[in-house]
Amino acid sequence: MTFPMYSDRINALPPYLFAAIDEAKDEMIAKGVDVIDLGVGDPDLPTHPHIVEAMREAVCDPKTHQYPSYAGMPEFREAAAEWCKKYKGIELDPATEVLSLIGSKEAVAHIPLAFVNPGDVVLYTDPGYPVYKIGTLFAGGEPYSLPLKAENSFLPDLDSIPADILKRAKLFFFNYPNNPTSATADMKFFEKVVEFCKKNDIIAVHDNAYSQMVYDGYDAPSFLAAEGAMDIGIELYSHSKTYNMTGWRLGFAVGSKALIKGLGKVKSNVDSGVFDAIQIAGIAALSSSQACVDDTNKIYEERRNVLIEGLTAMGLEVKPPKATFYVWAPVPTGFTSIEFAKLLLEEAGIVATPGVGFGDAGEGYVRFALTKPVERIKEAVERMKKLQF
Ligand SMILES: *Cc1c(COP(=O)(O)O)cnc(C)c1O
Repeated sequence: MTFPMYSDRINALPPYLFAAIDEAKDEMIAKGVDVIDLGVGDPDLPTHPHIVEAMREAVCDPKTHQYPSYAGMPEFREAAAEWCKKYKGIELDPATEVLSLIGSKEAVAHIPLAFVNPGDVVLYTDPGYPVYKIGTLFAGGEPYSLPLKAENSFLPDLDSIPADILKRAKLFFFNYPNNPTSATADMKFFEKVVEFCKKNDIIAVHDNAYSQMVYDGYDAPSFLAAEGAMDIGIELYSHSKTYNMTGWRLGFAVGSKALIKGLGKVKSNVDSGVFDAIQIAGIAALSSSQACVDDTNKIYEERRNVLIEGLTAMGLEVKPPKATFYVWAPVPTGFTSIEFAKLLLEEAGIVATPGVGFGDAGEGYVRFALTKPVERIKEAVERMKKLQF
């Protein structure tokens, strides 16, 4: 044996598909190229000042310095429930139907540990957030991907799942507004998911990380607002994208009492909750005016319009997304997603993420993240217009 003898589950991890792009990007920067990185889904804008101020005060109070509670401060869970009622129209019992999270990623990774046995199937949408699949594999589950196709408005075809898969299916991960396709889902789809999950005894896990990043008057619904969803579902919210707080690690899970309890059981054996000062800052975010969210969305909207105009001028057909800060663009004929991302980088100094990095069904697309100032996106568009392909 050779040190460090990784576990089978680590050895089985899929190769990191972005490694080649990362390397090529570093090479370009080393050559002195002015690279415009539209690859990363991490807000470039700072956390809003009233949230930072709440943290500054809270961190000076020694009462925040001890272990937090596993489930989250009662005040945090109450603020989350109040926020869900006010903005998503759902009623929750803060004591049993809300759980604080160290960001929603950990919940995605921990949920399979709470509910999935070896041999159980976990359904997930592809292309998608990589943790749905990896979290499933870590729990010994069997991931089964549901491809998201343009002709189905990037919604999964639940009727296409073979009976033997359905019989073993235990859990279903889905995410609307969607990363990376920026697709949205309406209540009709959510109602269909409830019916599907109830019929087949499947737990529904809705990742709603982009619930507030919306444009053109669109309002992203809560899955839990669908009739019967509270019986079989859990929904994940995150402060990360909504309030420019990716570095703080804060979110919350809401939904069925039994599911919240199961996730809480895993978490209380793995982590020790969220630093109280961060929860207090998180309360400030949830409970004060949401004008800061609207202001941020206006900034993304302007960037979106500039990028869409540029892509259209290049001959790529892209509809302006109603939500998320991603633009999911089909690559020109004759290119794979990796080849086109390479062309953008080498010929225009622009980083976009090849769709195949989000799953096999992402082939044929690249993802642009609107996480650079509008002047930089304008510059990217000027460079793209000069591209020959
Ligand atoms: C960014 C993102 C998250 C948020 O992760 P946090 O751990 O809350 O920062 C969750 N799901 C998707 C699809 C995302 O893109």
